Amino acid sequence: VAKRLAGKTIVITGASSGIGRSTAFEFARTAPNHGLKLILTARRVDALEQIAKEIRQEVGEGVQVLPVKLDVSQPEEVRGFVGNLPEEWRDIHVLVNNAGLVKGVAQAPSIAEEDINVMFATNVTGLINMTQAILPIFKARGSEGGSGDIVNIGSIAGREPYAGGSIYCATKAAVRSFTDALRKELIATRIRVMEIDPGQVETEFSVVRFYGDKSKADAVYAGVDPLTPDDIAEIVVFVATRRENVVVADTLVFPSHQA
Ligand code: NDP
Repeated sequence: VAKRLAGKTIVITGASSGIGRSTAFEFARTAPNHGLKLILTARRVDALEQIAKEIRQEVGEGVQVLPVKLDVSQPEEVRGFVGNLPEEWRDIHVLVNNAGLVKGVAQAPSIAEEDINVMFATNVTGLINMTQAILPIFKARGSEGGSGDIVNIGSIAGREPYAGGSIYCATKAAVRSFTDALRKELIATRIRVMEIDPGQVETEFSVVRFYGDKSKADAVYAGVDPLTPDDIAEIVVFVATRRENVVVADTLVFPSHQA
């Protein structure tokens, strides 16, 4: 499996915490000495620097890590992303579209416009813009219409909408439709378009949902045994390391209490 990552450059959005952070560690641990390059992106660049340091401490210099400040909800930042990378970091092979958030729990009529806009701008437009920014690199590679992996982090919420989460659920349903359509557009190329839909994972997700109120966030996970971000990270690395003809298109992952 490590050999399948040899010499690859991987971009992870939302790598400063939770699933994105764990995914960075999981790639590094899987191929510690195979010329792997990890580009970690998020708004909190200090957290990315810290993660880069921890990865170096754990696996040594065999994996290169580049922290990059990037707000995916800002189209101009995304448009400039590839061009602003040092040249030797631009040959990207894997894009993990993980950045995402939920704001608030409210019935549809009372959701703040600002929260609606930030959820769509991050979870949907941000993911689409990142994909558009990186696809030309994939398409230019090889002789079979291109090659590379796109791993989109959706959610069970995109399949089973719940009361109080209408906008978040709608964003994740949009991710699902976009992912499916893109996979069909890229059929018979070596560009794999894959989605992983987690159920409940304990991360900073609920802290963000409740505008930083940690006690409300903790209550979400009290008495249940949620997934850990490492559980999802293992699946991200799994789908990105199959033989190139194998597309693990769509993966739904629950903690056992939720299935
Ligand atoms: P976290 O809150 O721990 O991580 C979210 C990440 O997204 C952070 O690194 C954050 O970084 C980043 N992010 C948020 N907004 C932006 C932005 N505008 N630009 C760039 N990065 C951004 O939560 P999770 O790890 O749980 O969430 C990761 C993904 O998993 C999301 O797409 C979420 O919807 C999905 N998911 C989570 C589930 C759960 O139960 N936790 C269940 C199903 C899906 P920063 O703030 O530094 O920018």
